[in-house]
Amino acid sequence: MIGTGIHECTNCGTAVTPALRNYRDRESGLPNVVLQGVEVADCPKCGNSDVMIPRLAKVHRAIAQALVNSPARLTGEQLRFLRKHLGLSGDQMGSYLHTDRTKISKWENGVDRIGPTMDRLIRLVAATLDSELLPGASAVAEHLPQISDKPGNLLELHVDVVTLRTAFSSVARAA
Ligand SMILES: [Zn+2]
Repeated sequence: MIGTGIHECTNCGTAVTPALRNYRDRESGLPNVVLQGVEVADCPKCGNSDVMIPRLAKVHRAIAQALVNSPARLTGEQLRFLRKHLGLSGDQMGSYLHTDRTKISKWENGVDRIGPTMDRLIRLVAATLDSELLPGASAVAEHLPQISDKPGNLLELHVDVVTLRTAFSSVARAA
């Protein structure tokens, strides 16, 4: 995938040589996810940027895996990502958590903060319902005592799209 050469701008057809760079993946709905090693073709003619993320499904699974092992409290956006990753509606997710889609929506939209007990239940539900995350479920359970009450939006998740390695770091504070 890397260095495949010339790319045609999807907007105007200009030939562009893609460059490797870090990319903030907004389509995942997670503001604090940085994908590393993504090929981006910035068109000098029309200003369009084409982003080429290889193995997007595997990248999303790596994000889900990282989130259920996050060191900080899950955010609403992270809950939404996990719910969609599992392919569940708000009602379906609510049924696992003994609540309803109204409450799920309040969490996902940041109206209510996810409590510490619910945070842990969400992780276990996500880790056990996804057959590819299931092998790591006991590690998720063992990690539960270490989760801090710090809000997860203070952390940034870096995902290397080639190796699928993930790492959390503190969000750089704005000056
Ligand atoms: Zn163009």
